[in-house]
Amino acid sequence: MNLNITHVTSEVFEWDRPTIWNGSHFYDKGRLHKVTVYTDQGLVGSGWNGGTASTRPFGLMPRFVDYYRPLMIGKNPLDTRRLLIDLWERQIKILGPAGLHTQALAALLAACADIKGKAADLPLYKMLGGAKERVRAYIAGGYYAEGKDLSRLKDEMIYNVEELHATAVKMKIGDPSTGVSGDMERIAAVREAVGPEVLLLTDANCACDRETAMEFADAMAQYDVYWFEEPLPIYDFDGYRALASHSSVKIATGENYYVFSDFENLLDHKGVSVLNVDVAICPGYDVAEDVARAALNRGVSIAPHGCQELQLPLVAGVANGELLEYYPPEVDPLRGEMFQPSLVLAPDGFVDVPSAPGIGFELNMDLLNRYRVA
Ligand SMILES: [Mg+2]
Repeated sequence: MNLNITHVTSEVFEWDRPTIWNGSHFYDKGRLHKVTVYTDQGLVGSGWNGGTASTRPFGLMPRFVDYYRPLMIGKNPLDTRRLLIDLWERQIKILGPAGLHTQALAALLAACADIKGKAADLPLYKMLGGAKERVRAYIAGGYYAEGKDLSRLKDEMIYNVEELHATAVKMKIGDPSTGVSGDMERIAAVREAVGPEVLLLTDANCACDRETAMEFADAMAQYDVYWFEEPLPIYDFDGYRALASHSSVKIATGENYYVFSDFENLLDHKGVSVLNVDVAICPGYDVAEDVARAALNRGVSIAPHGCQELQLPLVAGVANGELLEYYPPEVDPLRGEMFQPSLVLAPDGFVDVPSAPGIGFELNMDLLNRYRVA
């Protein structure tokens, strides 16, 4: 189909929400950056950044879209791999290989992938391979917050399991003021709260040095922790190798890698069991698909990080998609109504992949327009 991009828009939304932290980063405002790609045949695609717990400076995004717009006008949005060459590889000398600008590019390429699905009248997960119609989800939570003691942490986890139907839950560790012993008390409390059957995941957001990561890995094994996410700084590939070969708890990482070569390097170091690739960080579904295939060849699974509505087509599409990260409305009350349809966990802790063409979700603009800042 000969489609041409005619217009590209960029909008930013911002709202207040409860302050949380992960041990290393404070998150206050909720923000979302939406891009819309228009074509000469009336097909329109949407992509976005946001819809996660983290606060990112999306006020900068419209300027990056200003840069990419003239490179996109007149191009066919179905040719996403050609766009990746023109807008990423050929711009490395000018923009650098990765950063906020590639996050903006990821949203633009997601919008093109949305158009691709709509043009084919197929949901995107089918175009990525259609491996499964249902995906097990885990609830991202267990953040640190002001006045959040062990009993509040346990209440949150019990709520996630009993009310939200989670069969897998994640909690943050690595806050320096809590320390390893304090975090181990938190892990013990959560395991006691959710019982032995629920999958328990931990996430340090790169807060540990090698020694602390080893100490955590050894200590959390007794609580049957399923994975230990981002224990180390992202480019300590040798550290990841040493930890993964030592730890009986699986090592997960990948949400902060932008470039295929970084994932490949980590895989070559045998430093990971689960890759948390994020299609709104690495530039688009094509790169994420390449990462999933490289991981498959090495017996590594994919459990994407980030906005569940964007990641669901990937994890459901590829052969080695394992778990979907799921942010409940409790992390950000607005997100419960931000996406249509509303994605909820079935009583067995799985989510159903929508059958609508494209990404399968639309943003609720009646709601978001109240919070527009750019
Ligand atoms: Mg994480």
